[in-house]
Amino acid sequence: MERLLPVVECFHSLQGEGKHVGKSAFFIRLASCKVGCPWCDTKESWSTDNHPKETISNLAEYAVKAQTLGAKFLVLTGGEPLHHNLNYLCTEIRQATFQKNNELMPIHIETSGVDPLSGNPDWITVSPKRHAPPRIDVLHACHELKVVIHSKDDLEFAEKMAHIANQSSLNTQMYLQPGWQHVKGQKLAYEYVKRHSQWRLSMQTHKWLGIL
Ligand code: SF4
Repeated sequence: MERLLPVVECFHSLQGEGKHVGKSAFFIRLASCKVGCPWCDTKESWSTDNHPKETISNLAEYAVKAQTLGAKFLVLTGGEPLHHNLNYLCTEIRQATFQKNNELMPIHIETSGVDPLSGNPDWITVSPKRHAPPRIDVLHACHELKVVIHSKDDLEFAEKMAHIANQSSLNTQMYLQPGWQHVKGQKLAYEYVKRHSQWRLSMQTHKWLGIL
């Protein structure tokens, strides 16, 4: 288990996407991603160089503080957070928030699904990539499937991913999310969701608001 983790940034904001959109949340963005999406908006997180390694206890303290300021859950994002083993971090955050604030902080994770799960997250969002498909077991465990749409091929891929995710009994929430300011993606997702009501549209509201 990792006791030091490379961190790009930690911040308290609102969840901008998906089912929990608009809720107060504390974010830890971990460095490292080998998935290599061309449209990635956090390329600075790909390498662990130039990002400080934080102790697990410091990260837990930040989470405790954010919880006292109103954050309802923690979001582990990246980069690809599951490139790291998150067991120790999640255990420490649960213990610290319960001991200091008498309330366990739920832990959400946003992952491409290419690595095994760790940390026993309370909410798992899988955003699968066509060029690096996710593990089946992670898809089966996801509460939320969020597919970024740039082309018709992405819509076909979204259906394939949904078929696998829906083999579990989790009643996975399904979102199509147009690439940021990608007009073709917006149109495709909008038209598709109108005709396929099992899907919902996810917009990156934090970007529209100009917040983190
Ligand atoms: S998986 Fe996420 S962080 Fe990694 S390259 Fe793709 S969009 Fe960027």
